[in-house]
Formats: sequence, structure tokens, C-alpha cells
Amino acid sequence: MSICAKCVTRGCLTKDETKMPKMLCPSRNKQILEKSKDMHVGEDLMIAVQSALVEAEGNTNWTRIQETIAFAQKCNYKKIGVAFCTGLHEEAKVFVKILEHHGLEVVSIVCKNGAILKGFLGIPQEEKEVYIKNDIMCNPIGQALALNELNTDLNILFGLCVGHDTLFIKHSESPVTVFAVKDRVLCHNPVAAIYQADAYYKKKLFK
Ligand code: SF4
Repeated sequence: MSICAKCVTRGCLTKDETKMPKMLCPSRNKQILEKSKDMHVGEDLMIAVQSALVEAEGNTNWTRIQETIAFAQKCNYKKIGVAFCTGLHEEAKVFVKILEHHGLEVVSIVCKNGAILKGFLGIPQEEKEVYIKNDIMCNPIGQALALNELNTDLNILFGLCVGHDTLFIKHSESPVTVFAVKDRVLCHNPVAAIYQADAYYKKKLFK
């Protein structure tokens, strides 16, 4: 258990132990600290280095898409998998075009791949009727398996639903980064709800 989100002193930002809470501060867990440092080897070290460079170069300058392209290029990732949501098909098309413009080879796969009916999931009929009869299910495991078979160097998530992204990340053999997440109400900008948590969304979020 740790308390970082509630920490007011945040000694880790300046490596100041006097400002690290005595209890429940992960910076005081030397065992995990050393283990995490030891794990910075091979591709993980390379990703850590290159993402630090992207952060430094792009900070308050590059948009997320520019950072994503720079990250792929710095890591020398040539073949990029884009796992996208059908609700963002047009946006995915533009996204792929921009990646290709920057010299990346892109393979893309939609969430509805395989055209499997939702009945396959065993959702009770009365619940299924709430949605659309015989709706095609999202198949994030299929997205991951297809990109695994194509030996992509890096997979990018583009607007997958909550939980579907979980399954994709769980089954992807290549490293994953997230470009966009699904929020059907807030134009895929879920943090907007946080900005309104003390105002218009208070009743919704703290009921
Ligand atoms: S690591 Fe420690 S000092 Fe840093 S935010 Fe978490 S509790 Fe605070």
C-alpha cells in the first residue's frame, strides 16, 4: 500500500528524504527500488532512455502524436501495429497516414475483427437485449494475436474501450503505448471529468 496520490511533501521530486513520509512511502522501499533498477536492462533500458529523451525534447512542445512518432523512431521501431476502435475508424485512418508519412510501416486492426457475435461471450439474453441483438463483439485478444503474428515492433492503442484495452495489453507480445482512450461522453478526453469533479460532475462522481 502507498499513499502517493495523497502525499503533500513529495520528497521524491527532489530526492529529499526528510520530505518522504515515514510510512507507506514507496521511495523508502529499498527492496523494490533496487529490483526496479536491476530490471532496467535490454529493451526495457532502451525504452526508458528513449522515452526520457522524448520527454525532454518534446516537453511543452510536441503533441502526443509527435511524441509517439519520435518515440518509435528513437527506439528504431519500424513496424507499428495500430489497434483501433471502429468508432474511431476515420480518425485511425488519419493517424495511420501521419505515421506512414514519417516513414513508419503500419499495420492496423479494428476491434470488430473476426465478426464474432456477442452471444459467444455468454452474456445472458436479457442483458444482451439492452444493447443490440446479435451485436458484433469487440475482439481485443484477436487484435493482439494478429499483431503478434505480424511481428510488430510496437503496438499503439487507439480508442479501445475500458477492459478491452486491458485484454489487448495482457496478450500483446510487443511493447504497447496508448495514443487515445475511449470516452463516449467527453470526446475521448476522460480527464475532463476530473477537472469538473468539484463542480458540474460532483454529483455524478461522488454519489
Ligand atoms: S514516493 Fe513518497 S515522497 Fe513521493 S509522492 Fe509517494 S509518498 Fe510522497
